[in-house]
Amino acid sequence: MFSNKQIERIKKKQTPFFVYDLNLLQNTLTALKQHAGNDVKIHYALKANSNLKLLDCIKKAGLGADCVSGNEVKQSIKCGFLPNDIVFAGVGKIDHEINYALEQNICCFNVESISELFVINQLAAKQHKKAAIALRVNPNIDAYTHKYITTGLQENKFGINPYEFEEVIQILKTLSHVELIGLHFHIGSQITSLVPFEKLCTRVNEINQWFIEHGIYVESINLGGGLGINYHEPDSEVIVDFKSYFDVFRNFLKLQPNQKIHFELGRSIVGQCGTLIASVLHVKKGINTNFAILDAGMTELIRPALYEAYHKIENITSENSTLLKYDIVGPICESSDCFGKAVLLPETKRGDIIAIRSAGAYGEAMSLNYNLRKPAGKLYLK
Ligand SMILES: *Cc1c(COP(=O)(O)O)cnc(C)c1O
Repeated sequence: MFSNKQIERIKKKQTPFFVYDLNLLQNTLTALKQHAGNDVKIHYALKANSNLKLLDCIKKAGLGADCVSGNEVKQSIKCGFLPNDIVFAGVGKIDHEINYALEQNICCFNVESISELFVINQLAAKQHKKAAIALRVNPNIDAYTHKYITTGLQENKFGINPYEFEEVIQILKTLSHVELIGLHFHIGSQITSLVPFEKLCTRVNEINQWFIEHGIYVESINLGGGLGINYHEPDSEVIVDFKSYFDVFRNFLKLQPNQKIHFELGRSIVGQCGTLIASVLHVKKGINTNFAILDAGMTELIRPALYEAYHKIENITSENSTLLKYDIVGPICESSDCFGKAVLLPETKRGDIIAIRSAGAYGEAMSLNYNLRKPAGKLYLK
């Protein structure tokens, strides 16, 4: 995965740090744009990784931004995304965040509850503005992903349920500072089967039709993100199969004339371009296993501890060919601070360099200050 020259650079830098392959990011963006086609708008979901260097590449590729906090809106504007390319979602937008986004004239608020409709209307009125909004609809679709990253089931906190639509329409008639321009859907993350997306299309068609029958045409249909990446064999699929993903929507969505499609992808754009690099501090014998204790932990990459996520782990400096089993753990005072159990690695010793793959999404962005850890370093490969 890394050339010998790159490994030499990696060895010289104080661990832990994230390595970002900007060349791979560029190639991923090229593939994304090629397969999405010209008639759709892609918004990059900043929450996956809001690193400025990555954002700069993404903005230059012509993507818009999908934000879930006021500071993400701020970060995208600072990075040069046009306000008109920014959408803002989230179940609990704070008043000052809404005010800021209104001042910046962002493209659209994705509204997640009836209560929020009233609040945005009220705050927009104070600024003498009309806020463009999309209703985030909860389509009740199982994304078959980890329960903590499924978002489109009726029991989840996200979005407005179809049984509330009649009420929403009545309320919208009374609100003069919001304008409904779109329907928004996002069913979850790390979705590795295309079946949930097919089901989503069917639901979107029904819901779109329902609104048409009730006299409401929306210009924008936002299908969210969620396309999963290959954590188990990153090298066999460094760039996700965007073609098959977009084909699903081309084949199954039935749109009204002039409706524009939006997507909000995060993980599938940045996931494979990042790797977390750590050093082995100690190897110690356990009862049934060996522990390789790293200088990186859940504070740098929380996904395994938070939702039992798998990351491929490699020893990139061992010259030994004997394979042994290790539990790969971090230095944090939590037993969930473990990157992988019974991982087969070439015999590993103190000072070896470990690569934790596919850490570009929800790695750096979710890092913690817990145990007063300082932020991991960064190395950019071109
Ligand atoms: C997190 C999120 C996304 C991006 O999800 P990925 O799985 O990273 O593609 C898109 N839209 C919304 C509303 C989100 O919350």
